[in-house]
Amino acid sequence: MLSEFDIIQRYFSHPAPGAILGVGDDAALVKPRAKMELAVSTDMLVAGRHFHYDADPRELGHKSLAVNLSDMAAMGAKPRWATLSLALPEAMVSAKGNWLEAFADGFFALAQEYQVDLIGGDTTQGPLNICVTIMGEVQAGKALRRSGTRPGDDIWHSGELGNAALAVAHQQGDIKLRAEDFDACLPALNTPAPRVALGQQLIGIAHSAIDISDGLLADLEHILRSSNVSGMIRMDEINCSASLKSYFSDSAAVRCLLAGGDDYELCFTASPSKRKKIAGLAQELNIPLTRIGEVGEGEGLVVLDAGGNPLTLQVKGYDHFRKG
Ligand code: ADP
Ligand code: MG
Repeated sequence: MLSEFDIIQRYFSHPAPGAILGVGDDAALVKPRAKMELAVSTDMLVAGRHFHYDADPRELGHKSLAVNLSDMAAMGAKPRWATLSLALPEAMVSAKGNWLEAFADGFFALAQEYQVDLIGGDTTQGPLNICVTIMGEVQAGKALRRSGTRPGDDIWHSGELGNAALAVAHQQGDIKLRAEDFDACLPALNTPAPRVALGQQLIGIAHSAIDISDGLLADLEHILRSSNVSGMIRMDEINCSASLKSYFSDSAAVRCLLAGGDDYELCFTASPSKRKKIAGLAQELNIPLTRIGEVGEGEGLVVLDAGGNPLTLQVKGYDHFRKG
């Protein structure tokens, strides 16, 4: 059986060229560049809650970092450093290192792609729990916040929404997907692609931004509330896969699109004068950017159906403490 020291040494001690001091001391040392603010965020993934114990460890390594990179994207920050705190059951350590090796592979492959250094963490035995803290840099005073949108702004989102939630709905028996549709949804759930470049490019363009982790409606409402404004979106303008659309007669599929969560796409608002710029960004980054509605005075969020009538919805998003 590996010791705590062995685990850290063998799997998590990588060079950290972007830090002054990485793994191995009582604390890491980092220094943001001049005129930059430090953006800091944490996300925890708990077995049985966010994923199954038998989830693929490589994909888990990827996802535990990806969901944190997504928070950096939503602030317009460039991710630079991360810490990783792990509670590991004995089984994950004694599986001849296979579990840990695969987990670390997935984590470091994504870290390398985004030039993020792992600079520390904590390792303990316990029920499987993965907690990543991410630190990034953002131009001082320029971070994209949830507040800051104004009446008249357009509401946009990136990518396709609902695929990850559709895969989960299938796994939970809420909807029955054709095998090929389920397979097509799995990458969105297991290996989301954080919109890091997009977030940084939206600085100076977007008035507000959020990453969609709890469902479009819930996350857009965070923007509207923080900014003291109302919003209206048109459901049939939301970008989603043709296969998700083919299940729309089932209300569970509509819920996946609007309230599913785990999308890790960005929702942002911007002045209509920026439409051309945003279209250019979509081309340059090769990411669909879709305009789905407008910000107004007052409060609340209205979703219009294809006929222009307001939709009434039971569930707006995912909340760990409130169900239904
Ligand atoms: P301490 O006793 O001060 O908490 P530890 O023995 O827990 O120190 O950790 C030793 C070093 O290894 C520290 O630099 C810590 O940040 C790092 N570390 C521990 N666990 C991890 C991990 N899972 N990933 C990366 N670094 C880790
Ligand atoms: Mg420790």
